[in-house]
Amino acid sequence: MAQLIPTAAAMENFGAQLAYACDLRTIFHLCGDLGVGKTTLVRGFLRALGHKGIVKSPTYTLVEPYQIDGQMIYHFDYYRLGDPEELEYLGIRDYLEENSICLIEWPEKGEPLTPAADVQIHITHHAEARLIEMQGHSTIGQAILERTML
Ligand code: ADP
Ligand code: MG
Repeated sequence: MAQLIPTAAAMENFGAQLAYACDLRTIFHLCGDLGVGKTTLVRGFLRALGHKGIVKSPTYTLVEPYQIDGQMIYHFDYYRLGDPEELEYLGIRDYLEENSICLIEWPEKGEPLTPAADVQIHITHHAEARLIEMQGHSTIGQAILERTML
């Protein structure tokens, strides 16, 4: 599935669609260059679920947890991960044992310890617009893709 996203607001809307289509336990990989709109997508996702506060990039903290109506959502950014082994200390496995949603920016920097994606999203620059390409890698992922298709 591929979709052209003309503005930052449209990227937030796309994140919101994913949130509505999402399952209780879903792992999203968000791939693409710096400034391509990964965090903007996550902001739309969290706001759609009812998060009122700011959504800051977890570039330095590696992870930012959110609890919305009892549902845990973890926003990761592995950009500054020095060594994938650091993920062991983050207790990622514990996050996955719960019913939690994980959105992971720069998942490739955590390999081979990055949890496998249900949905993989690639974003590329097309001048001001962005191209989103999305793949489902599990039953949950396929269902989310079908629900997000326009
Ligand atoms: P990343 O997390 O991928 O590094 P951010 O979401 O932090 O990127 O930043 C993307 C920047 O690009 C924001 O300042 C956003 O307003 C801007 N932007 C401009 N056009 C778009 C678009 N079509 N989609 C997403 N972001 C856009
Ligand atoms: Mg970011």
